[in-house]
Amino acid sequence: MVRVRFAPSPTGPLHIGGVRTALYNYLFARQNGGKMILRIEDTDQTRFVPGAEQYIIEALDWLGIEFDEGVHIGGPYGPYRQSDRKPMYRQYADQLIRDGWAYYAFDKPEALDAKRKEYEAQKKTFQYDCTTRGTMDNSLSLGMEEAQRRIDAGEPYVVRFMFPDDINITVHDLIRGDVTMNSRLLDDKVLFKSDGMPTYHLANIVDDHTMEITHVIRGEEWLPSAPLHVMLYKAFGWQAPQFAHLPLLLKPEGNGKLSKRDGDRLGFPVFPLEWHDPKSGEVSSGYREQGYLPQAVVNMLALMGWNPGTEQELMSMDELIKLFNIEHVSKNGARFNLEKAKWFNHEYFQTLSDEQVAAYLEKQLGERGISADHDYVVKVAGLMKERITFPSELWDTCSYFFVAPTEYDPAAIKKRWKAGMTTHMAKVIEILNTVSFEYDALHQAILEDYIKGNGLNMGSVMNSLRLAVVGKTVGPDMLTLVMMLGKEETARRVQRAIDTIGEVSEQ
Ligand code: GLU
Repeated sequence: MVRVRFAPSPTGPLHIGGVRTALYNYLFARQNGGKMILRIEDTDQTRFVPGAEQYIIEALDWLGIEFDEGVHIGGPYGPYRQSDRKPMYRQYADQLIRDGWAYYAFDKPEALDAKRKEYEAQKKTFQYDCTTRGTMDNSLSLGMEEAQRRIDAGEPYVVRFMFPDDINITVHDLIRGDVTMNSRLLDDKVLFKSDGMPTYHLANIVDDHTMEITHVIRGEEWLPSAPLHVMLYKAFGWQAPQFAHLPLLLKPEGNGKLSKRDGDRLGFPVFPLEWHDPKSGEVSSGYREQGYLPQAVVNMLALMGWNPGTEQELMSMDELIKLFNIEHVSKNGARFNLEKAKWFNHEYFQTLSDEQVAAYLEKQLGERGISADHDYVVKVAGLMKERITFPSELWDTCSYFFVAPTEYDPAAIKKRWKAGMTTHMAKVIEILNTVSFEYDALHQAILEDYIKGNGLNMGSVMNSLRLAVVGKTVGPDMLTLVMMLGKEETARRVQRAIDTIGEVSEQ
């Protein structure tokens, strides 16, 4: 039974890279009929940010990334928040000490600082490891009895992992193959502190084991920690899960990790939902609030680091579940591409029904105090949605369906409203009032009989009509628009343009 987890730390809003990690876990779980678990890793209380856990849950829910167990829904392996699991970690730290895999260390922060400086002065870097641990203030140098005496006297301590000297540790990674590191490169990481809190490393391994996690799928930034994790499994005598470290999401230019500042700089969100920082009050934009559809975000993220091996780009969640292959995830970082993100949104926007698009538009009309017939709004939505990428564009794109223009684009006047145009426009009003108000009849009367029949310039007359009705030379098929606005409204608009722009002298 496949069991995977998404294990974020509630230190702020969930970065879009974290969302991709959650998504890949979800796809993997679903395609294997496995379970998807949400665990909150909050052992570092100094970095805890209120609201972050709720944000993570809301963001993943919005995207349709569902969980089978987790902090918000419970489950048979709970609790799912590490701070709620606090009492269970000490026994594991004790076990490692008993078995000779860890030791107590009493070094004060000042002493460690001094040590670091001493090394720096010699242009070296201090590492707490097999070459230095003998000279430090710990149960190895002091002896266990003295260490115990100090602990009983209430002196603060940490428990450090003891890497064996000079062994090669291999991490089997589903994406990267075997990654080997020598233990000499690794420092004796702190696993547990005397306040009873484990660090990330201990809690992560204990939880993955006790929650029977089979696959650890997480960001590349955790690859350097993986040898320690592999050693911890060995030390406990537990079978390690399979690992898969996902490539970084890179800046659009391709160099370096995508950061919050890149989003601000280039005008795209790096967070799924808008985030209001509780301390600074700073607001960071979110995909949801910018009008991205969750399906578009999911599709775009799925392809940042993986592809189905074909040209296919549009894939629903169900298709992704079928096609995703963890072993085909790229080792190389994936570059963020804003144009592509917009393209996905445009594509998914087209899949919305006219009713759904109309709902967005009605909201924008309401905000402007405009009321319109629902069926009319639905028709406008259907006609115009192919031009829309973000719902926020609806009003600007469709406003002339609801309010008559009061201004006319000067450049278009200059280009199209030639001498004699008031006469032609007056003729259009006359046709509207006399010819039966049907598309084909109007087409025959205006375009064929009047414009072509009199040898007039088609572009000039039709664009002037458009200018009169829309205010600019944009919009859908002219007669479709006329049919939607109705005879009276069209005639009114054309008359107003005649009155406002007036006759121009021969150019
Ligand atoms: N809590 C870690 C994070 O915030 C989880 C890393 C892991 O998945 O092991 O990314």
